[in-house]
Amino acid sequence: MRVWLTTGTEIEQGLARLNPRLCYYVVLDVADAAVADAVLRRQPVDRLLLAGAAAGPSLLPLVRNALGDDRILKYLRGDFPPATAVPDVPVRLAEALRGLALGAPGDTVAHGLFPSTVTKLARLALTLRHEYPAEQVLAAAEHAYVSGRPYHAHDAVACALVHPDVDTTELVERYTKPGYDWRGWRSRRKTARIVAWARRHGYVAEPLRCECRHDRFAPPVYSWEAGRTLGNWIMIRPLLTLVARDPEQRCAVFRCIRCSRLWAEEVISMRHGDLYYGYPIAAADALAWLASKAAVKP
Ligand SMILES: [Zn+2]
Repeated sequence: MRVWLTTGTEIEQGLARLNPRLCYYVVLDVADAAVADAVLRRQPVDRLLLAGAAAGPSLLPLVRNALGDDRILKYLRGDFPPATAVPDVPVRLAEALRGLALGAPGDTVAHGLFPSTVTKLARLALTLRHEYPAEQVLAAAEHAYVSGRPYHAHDAVACALVHPDVDTTELVERYTKPGYDWRGWRSRRKTARIVAWARRHGYVAEPLRCECRHDRFAPPVYSWEAGRTLGNWIMIRPLLTLVARDPEQRCAVFRCIRCSRLWAEEVISMRHGDLYYGYPIAAADALAWLASKAAVKP
């Protein structure tokens, strides 16, 4: 909704009413630049940032002038995850960003529970400034999609990925593994976009890709899923050396000569012969893994 503010009082009241959610529902424009400029010069920085997020073409250059900063303004007017890297926040703007962040990554907000884009962006920028303790951000990211949470805390995941003191290896592995949780594809796609964004801007290290493609496969849960691994197994078999075999269970453990990961091999008996397939396993001890495998068999 576009709102034209004409008098000084209207502009004053229009800016006073803005909050991190409302600035996505209204576009504020002004008829008289001189009047607006005088009002803007009297506004605190957090009002200016919100005004910038809601500003239409006639208001935006005035806010930019009053704020004396274009980078943060551009960032707050953008999407989440942002198109660019997270900008450094000048000290004089940090306090105002705290007002927009409405708490820590993953926190619900008073207006409609889930944080709006400007709030998520503010949390992200403050995270880079060490605003939130690493353990707190990591815990929020780990519980981001727990069922029963009021909202999917994509902001917590993004903040953990950019936090200078959070080790993101496990988090990335957890959220990029296929079939790891109960969420719908829209939410999972959003997480994938956040991880890709974090990789693109160097917040997360590129995964070490091995030709065995262990990062692409998971142990099959259902027997039909085993079929998906057949092609890969035939292809990577020359890369693997045998570590241990249990002929009774018709099961074996191999090690990749490039990355040292362990792979398990199993066999399906078909009418015309046996089909071997393999999948990566997390175990470090091949014999213990074979023994546990035997224990679960009927
Ligand atoms: Zn490998």
